[in-house]
Amino acid sequence: LPLIQCFHVAKSYVAGEDILRDANLQILKGEFLFLMGPSGAGKSTFLKMLLGLEAPTRGHILVDGRNIHRLSRKDIPAYRRTVGMVFQDFKLLPRDSVAYNVALPLVAAGRPPGLVRSKVKALLQFVGLEKKAGTPCCRLSGGEQQRVALARAVANDPWILLADEPTGNLDPCASAVVMELMKAVHDRGTTVVVATHDPSLLEHIPEARRVHIHEGVFYEEAEASSTVCA
Ligand code: ADP
Ligand code: ADP
Repeated sequence: LPLIQCFHVAKSYVAGEDILRDANLQILKGEFLFLMGPSGAGKSTFLKMLLGLEAPTRGHILVDGRNIHRLSRKDIPAYRRTVGMVFQDFKLLPRDSVAYNVALPLVAAGRPPGLVRSKVKALLQFVGLEKKAGTPCCRLSGGEQQRVALARAVANDPWILLADEPTGNLDPCASAVVMELMKAVHDRGTTVVVATHDPSLLEHIPEARRVHIHEGVFYEEAEASSTVCA
């Protein structure tokens, strides 16, 4: 069973203007997928639908076999914890410390204080920021901020990590570090979807699957040609 299934998904914000129009896509557990397309193609819209922040106008999105837009109100927080998200602009609490930012999703999930402490320590070790635990995020470089955001995104061990132009504000060196960490997250079994307009990101993970959004439809990038995703 694919982890993520999209069947005939259409999405419009304004009646008659479809961003996605008949989008079909299946993502297997453990895949690393680049979602490619120019600015405005609908990449963020698709990620927001996977997070449950936007609903498809038509069609269905199933995650682990469940229609995530039919979840009862009480099941939504638990679903959201199974999906981590990283943004181009980090979306950290800038005045709060690195450790506080990473601890937040653990506290929100009701983890006991001892576990929060040990998990934050492990996460900061993972992203190489254990020495900055007490530093306010606004004093970090962009690359460091994105590593904090990544630690926060995987704090509750999500099944899926979504990233929307995660290196869009970073220099090439910091981008390489962040992509290396995403690869490490993937190596631990997490399904990873990275949305970007930047083909140079592909070089970091050449073996990753590539899907393009064009005129509201997903296309699989094949060796010789592109084929519509069925
Ligand atoms: P991408 O991430 O590929 O740049 P987006 O999903 O952000 O694309 O945007 C796709 C299109 O949808 C754009 O034309 C954008 O202006 C429009 N759009 C995105 N969000 C909204 C919204 N909340 N309301 C109206 N239009 C939106
Ligand atoms: P360990 O394998 O002993 O936990 P690591 O250095 O490999 O040590 O990872 C440290 C921490 O980073 C883990 O405990 C976990 O909290 C976090 N981590 C790393 N990768 C992931 C992932 N894919 N999903 C969730 N958490 C992760």
